[in-house]
Amino acid sequence: MSTSRRPDHGTSCPATESLAGQRGGFLELPRAPRQPLLRLEWEPEKTRLIRDRLEILTFDPAGRLFSFSSQGSIWRRGLDGRVLEISHNVDPQTTMPACHFHEGRVTGPEEAEKWRRWVEGVLAEALERFGPHPALEAPARFDWKADAEAFLDIYRPVGILPPDQYRSLVLQLTWGCAYNRCTFCDFFKKDTFRLKPPDEFREHLRRATAFFGPSLRGRKGVFLGEANAVGIPTDPLLEALAIVREVLADCPEAEPRRFEKVCSFLDTFSTDRTLEEWQALHRNGLDRLYLGMESGSSRVLKFLRKPGSADLSVHLVERLKKAGLRVGPIVMTGVGGQEMAEEHLQETAAMLNRMPLGPEDRIYVSEFLTVPGSEYEALARQAGLHDPGRMGCRLQSRELRSMLRFAPPPHGPAVALYDVRQFIY
Ligand code: SF4
Repeated sequence: MSTSRRPDHGTSCPATESLAGQRGGFLELPRAPRQPLLRLEWEPEKTRLIRDRLEILTFDPAGRLFSFSSQGSIWRRGLDGRVLEISHNVDPQTTMPACHFHEGRVTGPEEAEKWRRWVEGVLAEALERFGPHPALEAPARFDWKADAEAFLDIYRPVGILPPDQYRSLVLQLTWGCAYNRCTFCDFFKKDTFRLKPPDEFREHLRRATAFFGPSLRGRKGVFLGEANAVGIPTDPLLEALAIVREVLADCPEAEPRRFEKVCSFLDTFSTDRTLEEWQALHRNGLDRLYLGMESGSSRVLKFLRKPGSADLSVHLVERLKKAGLRVGPIVMTGVGGQEMAEEHLQETAAMLNRMPLGPEDRIYVSEFLTVPGSEYEALARQAGLHDPGRMGCRLQSRELRSMLRFAPPPHGPAVALYDVRQFIY
């Protein structure tokens, strides 16, 4: 394979040829006999290769493949080497406008390997036609398998993140969930909860930042995992926030402003901090908490075996907002089956409407997906509950949204779908 020839008929942007100068640019080669149109775009945070305006491959600054689109789907490579296919379809039965559903499918190792070879082929073609180019260096020398092994030596597979946190720097301060008894959740069922001692967390952070290296330019914010990491006592949490600041300040690739905000999940029942404690955590970087509330109905919560209540959730949000934190309440639709739907929607909307949410907050609606073999599935069967299905969940989501009394953005909180099918880290 020749990599020495520069394009002789490409379109280039001469003012933007240098990556070192933190600028971007592009090169484009038109379609030729048996050769597709090929475009190379680069900027400090990513490199893109585009074939025939249909196939788009995106690489991060370390050359890691981030995503590609092909055959009408989007494929995302997780840092653990898995590949997730995200496709979307419109339900032909629906009369609702723009009713799109996303499907997520993690490919098996053989299919992932097939895509890895395909990506290598596109890169070889780009090197052949563009010749050596700084933007292609990191993607061309990237070792997919070794990189996944390096990631899994530092991290446990990241099971779930809020939709706007997929590009954050995840740091695993805890393992597992301290409660771990919700009937619908199987993320941490096999794990024993553990808080990392300060030295172990510091080492985890050092190794994580070394692993990401230049990729940190494409990341924003810190997400503390796993599960309910912020539910640990306040002193160790303050110490962990200090370690985050200390290690990131020493990391040349981590531009401080990008990582000064720390987010995490929090349940609504296990933490009873004073306002002063929340204020101290906020001053030390804690910025937004994603609150797994699920429902405002006590009957539904009991069925989910999730402690707490609508009053507790409202009280917690009031306190967090007073302390200056942003919040992301997460509620589900479809839980409790069709039998509890009315009560669930009424009481969930009533709970959310009592919260002092502003434009800096966001309400997440998660359409329930029964985990096969889960305790929830067995209990729902025993209780004779009817699963509303995907369309039933979507109808509930729309109804719930219509019951909310907040001003629309930019004056009130946005309401967004939380679709776990699209997640891979
Ligand atoms: S508290 Fe959250 S992480 Fe823990 S079992 Fe319940 S839903 Fe899962």
